[in-house]
Amino acid sequence: MMGRAALSEGAAALASVSDTPFLDASLLLARALGTSRERVLAMGPEALDEAGEAAFRGLIARRISGEPVAYILGAKEFRGLEFRVDARVLCPRPDTEPLVETALEAALSLSAAGRAPVRIHDAFTGSGAVAVALAAELGDGASVSMSDLSPDALVLARENAGMLLGRELPARLSDCLEGVEGPFDLVTANPPYVTSSFCDGIYAAGGREPRLALDGGADGLGLYRRLVPRARGLLSPGGVLAVEIGDEQGAAVSALFAEAGFAELAVLRDLAGRDRVVRGR
Ligand code: GLN
Repeated sequence: MMGRAALSEGAAALASVSDTPFLDASLLLARALGTSRERVLAMGPEALDEAGEAAFRGLIARRISGEPVAYILGAKEFRGLEFRVDARVLCPRPDTEPLVETALEAALSLSAAGRAPVRIHDAFTGSGAVAVALAAELGDGASVSMSDLSPDALVLARENAGMLLGRELPARLSDCLEGVEGPFDLVTANPPYVTSSFCDGIYAAGGREPRLALDGGADGLGLYRRLVPRARGLLSPGGVLAVEIGDEQGAAVSALFAEAGFAELAVLRDLAGRDRVVRGR
């Protein structure tokens, strides 16, 4: 079969399981052929050999069965960095870009106010995507640490820090900041915030990501109720807390920030105009 035809056939086969079937198919074809996605997209009329075609079909079948592309490839790009990812952690998502951007902005204004290096802690770190991206982008301007409840996730977060930064980030096993010692100038978190009943639907439909990373309890807000007051206790005066939220949680999470004594509250949106981050000082 021709490479181009394989690509469109693969994309068509993924249309019902993926929001990005062509992207997925091109990444999987590149993996099957041991080449880059750019090479796959530039492919002329050359035919796939039998082994390449069989490998591609195998990867497409895994994707159809519900496995995320990031797990199949063992990697996911986030903020220009290639994170190692597998079923131990949530796949880094574009949804989390606004959290990183909010944190960068806060870190830059804190360091302009004389607080360098900015002490940052990323709770619920998972693969370490937010912590490692902030450390990479802020360099010497920040000292970044991270925590997670899952020992498996923490292993991967440490590996990502070592691989992508060439140095370790302090990492601690912790249930929602319990036992974590501050003070910090900035705390970031992308806690689980999906409602339990929505999660039931995700797993009934074959979801593969750890429930621990998604399930925020009956109303999705369970972890914010614990996190927000604890983060407040760990922040230096003028310190900032920024959390990712589900698009309908802006008002409820802002109320939790206000209750815990945060000021200068802001609900920030993603590029699609959905509420995605709550920030407070
Ligand atoms: N944005 C993710 C999703 O909707 C949820 C991430 C989370 O719970 N922290 O799948």
